[in-house]
Amino acid sequence: MTRRFSTVGVVGLGTMGAGIAEVLARTGRTVVAVDVDEAGVTRGRGHLEHSTGRAVARGKLTAEARAALLARITCTTSLTALSDADLVVEAVPERVGLKAGVFAELDRICRPDTVFASNTSALSITEIGVRTGRPGKVVGLHFFNPTPVLKLVEVVRTVVTEPDVVDDVVAFAESLGKTPVVIGDRAGFIANALLFGYLNHAVRMYESRYASREDLDAAMRYGCGYPMGPLALLDLIGLDTAHEILGTMYRQSRDRLHAPAPLLKQMVTAGLLGRKSGRGFYTYDGPDSPTVVPDAPVAVVEPASAREVRRVGVVGTGTMATGIAEVFAKRGYDVVVRARSLDKAEAAVGRVGASLDRAVVKGRLAAADRDAALARVTPAVEFADLASCDLVVEAVAEELAVKTAVFQALDEVCRPGAVLATTTSSLPVVECAAATSRPGDVVGLHFFNPAPVMELVEVVETITTAPDVVATARRVCLDLGKRPVHCRDRAGFIVNALLFPYLNDAVKMLEAHYATADDIDHAMKVGCSLPMGPFELLDVVGLDVSLAIERALYLEFREAGLAPAPLLEHLVTAGRLGRKTGKGFRDHT
Ligand code: NAD
Repeated sequence: MTRRFSTVGVVGLGTMGAGIAEVLARTGRTVVAVDVDEAGVTRGRGHLEHSTGRAVARGKLTAEARAALLARITCTTSLTALSDADLVVEAVPERVGLKAGVFAELDRICRPDTVFASNTSALSITEIGVRTGRPGKVVGLHFFNPTPVLKLVEVVRTVVTEPDVVDDVVAFAESLGKTPVVIGDRAGFIANALLFGYLNHAVRMYESRYASREDLDAAMRYGCGYPMGPLALLDLIGLDTAHEILGTMYRQSRDRLHAPAPLLKQMVTAGLLGRKSGRGFYTYDGPDSPTVVPDAPVAVVEPASAREVRRVGVVGTGTMATGIAEVFAKRGYDVVVRARSLDKAEAAVGRVGASLDRAVVKGRLAAADRDAALARVTPAVEFADLASCDLVVEAVAEELAVKTAVFQALDEVCRPGAVLATTTSSLPVVECAAATSRPGDVVGLHFFNPAPVMELVEVVETITTAPDVVATARRVCLDLGKRPVHCRDRAGFIVNALLFPYLNDAVKMLEAHYATADDIDHAMKVGCSLPMGPFELLDVVGLDVSLAIERALYLEFREAGLAPAPLLEHLVTAGRLGRKTGKGFRDHT
């Protein structure tokens, strides 16, 4: 007979426990919530009142329903109040000894048939379960933060969990309006195992001053459509929890990419735990507040003055080149599109026109503005036609020899002081700079595809780029309505260096038969609110392109954990490249 779990205990009323109690009470369960002391209970009640109060203010809950909801939750400091619970969900801090101790005590207090669930993010459910007298009735029930909003729940079964307990907990999670996935007991389960390597990498980038916290966060929001950047997300999760999760993952994987960044430990020791303490990577206007405030008087650094840019050259005729030409022309710059033959150059200008036409049809551009933009674009064959350009953006094939030849040619013809930019996504910008006699004028301008739509541009500074060239690149991006982020010349820059190791980890997880591609995609979309799951994204990007980026990252950093997954190599060898060939991780019809 299916267990109904009508009385549910929640132990630990912090960030997660309070959210879990709210979700349970919303669906009519009687909730007995226990925290360690009165202060914990008061804080937990505060969370509950605040969250349900906001739901009323937003019209999602009536005042009466709120009162009834809160009345269904009893808060106490005594575990013995859980003697009648059908299910207990534990959400105390992420320490195995603490959790096992709580369950050992509950084992004595609760009925023998009471099911125990831990909300741990990464700890071993097996290890927790065997410390009780009922390991068959112990599961992981991993909710996501904020619990009332995010629909994913990972149900973790151990090798000894009784199958009917798993079935009943799954049905229970569904009755809460959640979408559960069932998986085995591995550090970090699906979502955290894939998420935390990425978050840790972002901390390391910040720690090494590779990019600022704002630029790291903006890169993932505007470049990948993530709802939050990695550092803001760490502040939401809590840095102490994140540090524990990474520690657990590292102990299991021994992958250096999971070894917690030293900065995390320092911040935790100093009490900078993120939003819950009012300060983490960002400073908030109080504990538990989402509002970021300036954390220190900002030192005023005189920005280098930017160079004047009116006339722009674009070298290349591919998707990126035509997109970039369109962006500049729409904003009022004169644009020269240079190709290897006049036919190609004219065809590229034709594609700019066609794209502008589509914008007119969709009502996003006036016909007169389209005509004016198109009139500003001139096709060209000779590099000499770029002689008077103030900025030239190279967007030819992603091959070093091809790109350096373009830069040699630009060096011969361009006027002194012209800024020379490359859109490369994986080659060293400094190679392009070194091909010229003016390396100070060379910068990376990494646009994202489709350039007219994507806001992000990575402005890549080499060790030789002049400060006013960086300032010019930044100002031009802002003028185009883009969101420039600044980083140095390292493989993958910000976005690809953060994105592709995560995608690679997803392939390794699939290869290890831990979860299916559907479950992994589901976990990342529903648990982390990502716009696409990793396998969907890999099929869209192209497996050959993805493999090339992963190889470039591996060759640059020589981290074992970055080595491309053999499964990806095999799919590429077999010609399964994703959507473009109709088959990749999935078949596309
Ligand atoms: P938290 O620090 O916000 O809350 C922990 C709560 O447990 C506090 O209220 C504390 O007073 C209470 N507590 C401590 N010892 C206790 C005891 N012996 N008995 C009863 N209560 C006790 O932590 P959190 O972020 O809510 O994390 C709780 C668990 O949920 C952890 O295992 C964490 O890994 C997991 N988790 C966290 C997130 C997240 O984003 N923060 C997401 C999913 C799962």
